[in-house]
Amino acid sequence: ATPMALMVGTGNGARRGILISGPSALESTRRVDTVVFDKTGTLTTGRMALRAVVSAPSRDDDGVLALAASVESGSEHPIARAIVAGAAERGVPALELQAFKSIAGRGVVGKVDGVEVQAGRAASLTRLPAGKDAGLAAKAAELESDGATVVAVYADGEPAGIIAVADEPKAEAGEAVESLRRQGLDVALLTGDNEGSAKAAARAVGISTENVISGVLPEGKLDKVRELQESGVAVAMVGDGVNDAPALARADLGIAMGTGTDAAIEAGDITLVSGDPRKVAEAISLSRKTLANIK
Ligand code: ADP
Ligand code: MG
Repeated sequence: ATPMALMVGTGNGARRGILISGPSALESTRRVDTVVFDKTGTLTTGRMALRAVVSAPSRDDDGVLALAASVESGSEHPIARAIVAGAAERGVPALELQAFKSIAGRGVVGKVDGVEVQAGRAASLTRLPAGKDAGLAAKAAELESDGATVVAVYADGEPAGIIAVADEPKAEAGEAVESLRRQGLDVALLTGDNEGSAKAAARAVGISTENVISGVLPEGKLDKVRELQESGVAVAMVGDGVNDAPALARADLGIAMGTGTDAAIEAGDITLVSGDPRKVAEAISLSRKTLANIK
């Protein structure tokens, strides 16, 4: 490879908002056959909004929302922001939060008004003993099949209610998937979110629901990339979150959204300055063309 051609290629990329870390990143683009997208913040806007609150029979919606907003006020997660903003919009005041802890990819816990509050994955409801979920698991499943992300709220260990939030696919996401396919690449979705919201997002952007891997815990994203590689797939992983960083580092080609976390950007071989997912196809074709000019 001539250094001059490499410089021209990376310079062209930089002008288009595609930051290529070095020659090995270029080489990797030639190998990859499958592009695996993270969902929230990568294919979707990551700007979630409150959709519904359902409380257990012994509670009221505003009370549940107040507990949830209070405990989520300690978190920066898009889900947390949606709940805090939704409560404020409804005029539900957040209460003082103590002993806050965030558990990546799972949820948050803290003490609110003397009550131990947990907010996290709705799947936890299905693990309660029969009859102990206050009918919330079924409601959660219904909301999830409509594409929402559902947070289960517990007060002193008892289910208090559920809160549904959702965001929208980015306007360019469908085109992004289509142009990757036109380049002969397979496209998949890998997310910590529930199956319903993952499949709804996949359908909206044209990813086959057979290529959806959902409900994955943060450490699991890395394992899934490794499994794909062991089955002979060369993976380009696209992500934005702290949770995506190990998978981005492990992938044959890691592509970070510049709108995402520093951890993701550091782990990526390529950074897309804007959050536009169409840049993934552009980055791969530009890199491949640069290599073709060198050889
Ligand atoms: P993604 O893979 O879509 O970027 P994450 O790994 O960040 O998602 O989160 C996975 C799941 O963990 C969420 O869908 C949610 O169920 C739960 N979760 C994470 N953070 C929070 C939070 N602050 N409040 C409630 N639930 C959360
Ligand atoms: Mg994400």
